[in-house]
Amino acid sequence: MHYSSLYPFLVISKIAVTFGRSLKKESGIGSRRHYDNSTLSTRKITLESRFSHKIQTYLFYEKMASSTILSIHLIVNSVQITNTNIMKTLLIILGLTIATNSFAQRINLDSLILSKKPKYLEGVVPVYVIPGYETKAILWQSTITEAKKFFENKYPRTSIKAKLAVLDSTNWTNEVYAYGYTYGSKGWIVLPGDEDFSDYLRIFGAAPFRKELINAYNENGLDPNELPVISFQFVAVHELGHLIVQQLIKEGIPGEYLNEVVANILAWEFFKTHKPEVMNSIELFFDVFRKNYTNPKYTTLRELSENYGKMDMPNYVWYHINMLRLVEEIYAVKDVDLLSCIMEIRQEREIQNLDNITMGSLLDKYYNGIFSRWLAKYN
Ligand SMILES: [Zn+2]
Repeated sequence: MHYSSLYPFLVISKIAVTFGRSLKKESGIGSRRHYDNSTLSTRKITLESRFSHKIQTYLFYEKMASSTILSIHLIVNSVQITNTNIMKTLLIILGLTIATNSFAQRINLDSLILSKKPKYLEGVVPVYVIPGYETKAILWQSTITEAKKFFENKYPRTSIKAKLAVLDSTNWTNEVYAYGYTYGSKGWIVLPGDEDFSDYLRIFGAAPFRKELINAYNENGLDPNELPVISFQFVAVHELGHLIVQQLIKEGIPGEYLNEVVANILAWEFFKTHKPEVMNSIELFFDVFRKNYTNPKYTTLRELSENYGKMDMPNYVWYHINMLRLVEEIYAVKDVDLLSCIMEIRQEREIQNLDNITMGSLLDKYYNGIFSRWLAKYN
């Protein structure tokens, strides 16, 4: 067997790699920035940095595939290979190369969600829902649509393209996040459809204080069974907040915590001004959670950054609950808008690699030192 018979395979594998790269580019995978983990929260928060180990595996294979092809090119171009076993081995490697590149296709978020065979509901915010969860999907769709209108008015340069996916636990996008972690990225807002009150308490770690929660809801004349749907209404706008940031600040906001604070403040503002009853329910849940969940494993912003999307849900909720304290303080500062401040700072300097402390001190100018005080508590 002469090495020239390898060329068709080389051509095919090269095409596969190129195809994989174009999908990767489209889905935004691969531009993950690597920072020194010893510095605080400097990793850019984008979908790719949240795809966790599967993306890293993909990147590893992608690199391996490219270097394999390069090595084979070098081998076949430099020596006359006549040994059939070597040729067979090379062909197997090439086969694997092609197979690993097809992994890229599965990582594309659009194809990943559409592969779940959801039902399509049209609208300003189109919905892709696993049949059976249409009622809540329509409620969330209308909340997102209203919020989208509000923010497009508030930030005139914004035209948010949002799509809602309501998936159940069996059809969840585990390739991106474990079930329980909702997210907003690449135009998608992904929410769970099948969490009832008991599931919700279990997933978010509130089952041990179920009784306290039911009592608090009853005392305030609220139905605890509505907690999941209402809570995901808030989450839906929080995820829309991430999409707004991705559109307005292309390079991203530095640090996981600041990204979450911005998404939370956008949601907070919308619900305070448009649907205060949603906020009342959320705050009640958070109050009970705060009093009863007292032993989080991770508590610092460094730990948040290092374990983002990987820590257990109750711990992640704990971070959000504490962030909402900051959000409350920020929101109380009249006539100052956090996202506008960040955009203003960005006009003067590059912000994507700034650490929490520097970013906090830049924001302190607008917020009378609130950020530095808060950061000192959680660093
Ligand atoms: Zn978020």
